[in-house]
Amino acid sequence: MVCPRCGSIFTSDVPAQAYVITCYTCGWRKLVAPLPQIPLRKLPDLARELEYEHRAKHGFKAKTEIKPIFHSLRGTNLEKSSSRYRQCPDCSNWLWLISEDCFFCPRCELYYIPSQGARYYSLNDVIRQRTPAGSVDEVIREFNDLLRENCGFKGLNPVQERALREIIKNIENGRSKGIVALPTGTGKTILAACLARWIIARLEEIKGARILFLAPRLVILEQVATMLDMAGVCVTGFHRIFKDLPVGLHPLIERGYRYEKKGEELLNLLESDWPYILCAIATTPQLLYNIRRDDEKWEILLKNIDRVKVLIMDEVHHTYNGEEMKHKVMREIIDRVEYVIGLSATPTNEAVINVGSLLACHSIEEAMQLGVLVEGIKFYVYDTEVKRRGAEEPFDEWKVCIKRRAYEYAKKIIEIINDVRKSTGRDEVPKTAVACPNVKEADALYEVLKGKLGEENVYIAHYRSQGRKPVEEIPYFRDSKSGILVSVNMIDIGFDDKDLEILVLARPIRNPISYVQLVGRVLRMPSEESRTWNIKSKLGYCIVVDLTKSLYTLVGEESPAGFFKLSERIMRGLEKAKNFERDLRGDRRRTEIPEIDANVRVTHIKTQLIRPKPILCPNCHRYIYPEYRDGEKVCPECGFVFSPRPRY
Ligand SMILES: [Zn+2]
Ligand SMILES: [Zn+2]
Ligand SMILES: [Zn+2]
Repeated sequence: MVCPRCGSIFTSDVPAQAYVITCYTCGWRKLVAPLPQIPLRKLPDLARELEYEHRAKHGFKAKTEIKPIFHSLRGTNLEKSSSRYRQCPDCSNWLWLISEDCFFCPRCELYYIPSQGARYYSLNDVIRQRTPAGSVDEVIREFNDLLRENCGFKGLNPVQERALREIIKNIENGRSKGIVALPTGTGKTILAACLARWIIARLEEIKGARILFLAPRLVILEQVATMLDMAGVCVTGFHRIFKDLPVGLHPLIERGYRYEKKGEELLNLLESDWPYILCAIATTPQLLYNIRRDDEKWEILLKNIDRVKVLIMDEVHHTYNGEEMKHKVMREIIDRVEYVIGLSATPTNEAVINVGSLLACHSIEEAMQLGVLVEGIKFYVYDTEVKRRGAEEPFDEWKVCIKRRAYEYAKKIIEIINDVRKSTGRDEVPKTAVACPNVKEADALYEVLKGKLGEENVYIAHYRSQGRKPVEEIPYFRDSKSGILVSVNMIDIGFDDKDLEILVLARPIRNPISYVQLVGRVLRMPSEESRTWNIKSKLGYCIVVDLTKSLYTLVGEESPAGFFKLSERIMRGLEKAKNFERDLRGDRRRTEIPEIDANVRVTHIKTQLIRPKPILCPNCHRYIYPEYRDGEKVCPECGFVFSPRPRY
């Protein structure tokens, strides 16, 4: 690869070190990254020099910090960062880079948007004038334009659009706290960013406002903010929504970084004035719980938390609830923040009580009908019977490893895979993920599958993996076009792959919330690149193999179509969390798992394709399942185009 600036050759994945200098007093930030004329070893000195210069301007009173970033400089990022030096169009002073398309001159107090040559002279002006406003229809139309311009999307998808309409209506009617319930894979993070932008622009006073984004898992936070975003390069979709505004993203998410340090950073960010830039912070709720343990720090946090005007709580069904202490921590914060938006694909009843009732709610069935998720789910339902040989004391059949069960399960999985191969004419093993009862049985299943399908087709990632850790193994599976991933709980270990084709539940799922969360993994529309081979594009449905008829037990009737009813009920926030997190995680033990010799019978009960209710074509008046051709929703009977506007 050739550097677009100097022509020298570099490999795209060499990890490069860079530094970000932040001033907590005024919000100034500077990226010190390696450039051809600045060798790596000089960077720390250069960063310290710039920090010194900046503090001198404040008379050395300012609180500043130099933070190292390790990041592989991919070609695009380097190109982007090369346009980070600009001069003020009014006074030719060097401008601060805030976002990719937003610069600031502290001398003229001028905001400059290079893509349009636009200039603004106050924070209120630049945010208000550049953010969609007016009637709901106008807001939607303008957000569609904004998504096209800033993110290269085709606009809001139909689920996002419906949700945004509902939320805006609710907020305009005076609701300021509540939950947005949308299925996994419908674009909640992007929607939340649009919403935050719309809310901020409506505030009476924007100066000093903060956006706080909380998510219990780092994998999600990395989709909101990375260290490069901190330096003004818009890497995440969330940040790109704010590309043309003076919004500075500040992730407090690094792995292995001491929480005391992160906690202090958070307090600094909340305490400071930041008169020119709107600060958006992304972190975990755990950081808040940690700060809570120190009364002095907690007091500082509470004193400043009302600066947070928009609090977004992603995956609000998780950790926020449960332990009383955590419950109280969030309560104190929620009460002091003006707008609180909880996001979830499975809002628990507890979350609804904590945050507020639903601001918008759209079911899996609706998202499938609108073409935002796959068109159908083919359920394979089986029953598993275990009979221990000999008459010994009773045991929990799911807390032990039964090799015979792993063997029977492997047989069923391979049968289904061969079916799919036959009906699609594809040789490879479809992308399959299996949730096993415990790590020992996962290892056993892995061995059987490896023997039958070849080592190159089987991956293993669980809590106690012997070889590669889950964070290393999962990317291999994600980047592959085929293969089986064996795990105990794929969500806990950060698995999220649009191209997944088959989900196998090889252990009983006892809580409806975990069931819907797990099935949600396979319902996403496949990525653009996988459309030529993915069965979700070729057959129009994904496959869920339920080896313990958990669905029937949860729904209370013998019908796969009950899945829609089950997920709808959860989506409305009617279901209590109970111990769904433990159910979802599965058995995490490593060594104590005994191996049992038992007879195992796996019997097939039913195979059924379920699809949402058909919709009425306004042109030919027939009930149809729309087809999606080049992103347009089309009636297969008469060719009528439902959405004239291009979509995803
Ligand atoms: Zn400063
Ligand atoms: Zn200037
Ligand atoms: Zn029609």
